[in-house]
Amino acid sequence: MRIVVKIGTSTLAHAAGRLNIRRTEELVKVLSDLKNAGNQLILVSSGAIGMGVGRLNLPGRPADMPTKQAAAAVGQCELMYAYDRLFGQYNHTVAQLLLTGEDVRFPHRRQNFVNAMERLLELNALPIVNENDAVATDEVGESTTIGENDTLAAIVAECVGADLLILLSDIDGLYTADPRKDEHAALIPEVGEITPEMWARAGDPGSALGTGGMHTKLKAAEIAMACGCDMIIANGRRPELLYDIAAGRPAGTRFVGRRGQA
Ligand code: GLU
Repeated sequence: MRIVVKIGTSTLAHAAGRLNIRRTEELVKVLSDLKNAGNQLILVSSGAIGMGVGRLNLPGRPADMPTKQAAAAVGQCELMYAYDRLFGQYNHTVAQLLLTGEDVRFPHRRQNFVNAMERLLELNALPIVNENDAVATDEVGESTTIGENDTLAAIVAECVGADLLILLSDIDGLYTADPRKDEHAALIPEVGEITPEMWARAGDPGSALGTGGMHTKLKAAEIAMACGCDMIIANGRRPELLYDIAAGRPAGTRFVGRRGQA
């Protein structure tokens, strides 16, 4: 299977932005094993800004654009250094691809990206994609960004014709109500159609260092489903869930791609 896995900042880093070593090590081990089992993997990893915040000892996620750019530039190195080192232990070779909105909006640039991805996969490398937050800003009056990595991951899955998109987050999946507020909230195991009620319930809390919420996950599901790709939201605190997912066993919430419409 060709699987795109999106890893959120809340999975990779502690609240203050330093790398969560144990979690990241576990995750890399499972991902390496899935790759050894013959799956093609592509990671879309957040964490650049969050880890830059930790590395530069900033008090929190920067509000101003230049500091955010600086944090991303520092944190992206830290992030790739960690991945390179950890995947290297299992003999996997990582590759970094940093995109802006324009790279996926213009057909010829999108094709360039696809060409690079296909070649990397042929060469058995592990592409790790993030938005190029050091230069992609919306400050110049035109939208050059994708904005968050749930959408970026769905666009990547669409570009490479993935079989499966997995969003690893700090929640177990999509619920019938907000599980932090309602004890009767139940996990929805499978979604065939995103209903207006689901959109209405998907507020956008996000976390201190990342930017995603349920709203961006539903947006990602819409993109994935439309191109015939299943999408799963699962809890990144439990990397072993990836084994269940790869084996087709129920885990988190599965959004079923619309087959035949791809
Ligand atoms: N690209 C951002 C980063 O690496 C994260 C975007 C997101 O959290 O969705 O920090």
